[in-house]
Amino acid sequence: MFRLEHVSKRYGSLTALDDLCVTFPAGTVSAIVGSSGSGKSTLLRLLLGLDWPDTGQIFIDERPLAREDRLAVRRRIGYVIQEGGLFPHLTVRGNLALLPRHLRWSRARIEARALELASLMQLPAQVLERYPAELSGGQRQRVAVMRALMTDPPALLLDEPMGALDPLVRFELQEGLQQLFHELGKTVLLVTHDLPEAAYLASRLLLMRSGRIIQDGNAADLYERPADEFVRRFVAAQRAAPVPER
Ligand code: ADP
Ligand code: MG
Repeated sequence: MFRLEHVSKRYGSLTALDDLCVTFPAGTVSAIVGSSGSGKSTLLRLLLGLDWPDTGQIFIDERPLAREDRLAVRRRIGYVIQEGGLFPHLTVRGNLALLPRHLRWSRARIEARALELASLMQLPAQVLERYPAELSGGQRQRVAVMRALMTDPPALLLDEPMGALDPLVRFELQEGLQQLFHELGKTVLLVTHDLPEAAYLASRLLLMRSGRIIQDGNAADLYERPADEFVRRFVAAQRAAPVPER
């Protein structure tokens, strides 16, 4: 679904992405892990066409990404950020309707899709009337995921969607997302700096450092066969992280 070929991105003298070559096949769930500033968000932003590489090329379904594809890309890729990114002056229904309305969906179709997703995300239908400030943090993130799924995009990119949640709410949303990824069969890229969360939700883990991918494998590879001393320290820093059986 996504392929990056020698993609580099610099901000001034800082290299956010350094000659990245990586493929994310359709229908796979990958977690991007790494410390702050390692280029994780930049990678997602480039895939969404929100920013452009200085060098190299991005392919979406084997098609080189071009600036004029931006709207098409928004329909094909759902995007969720840490704070949810919901518009505070719109109700949940209003937030969910933004992109579909832009695509001239009928009111009835938007409503039906909103209700379908509320049920999928285990939220009561009354949530649609509420404003983001009237929701709990966990509900807000569920709504953000619903909004990203409105047009049923084949891909979903999530940038630390659970970073701001307390542990129990986070645990529940992790379970919800695990089920969702499993059921929907979408291409998912999840950014997190939580290794157990990555291992729970994704079959492939990519560890980034200074704009490069320094290890690409499953959880057992990272835990048992760290590529270098940094990976070993990164893994060791996650206390009591259970290694899932595979
Ligand atoms: P991560 O998501 O892994 O924390 P980012 O991709 O956000 O890292 O950022 C990678 C590096 O690029 C960081 O050093 C960050 O400060 C820098 N950076 C990201 N976006 C910008 C920007 N718009 N302007 C300047 N520097 C940026
Ligand atoms: Mg980030």
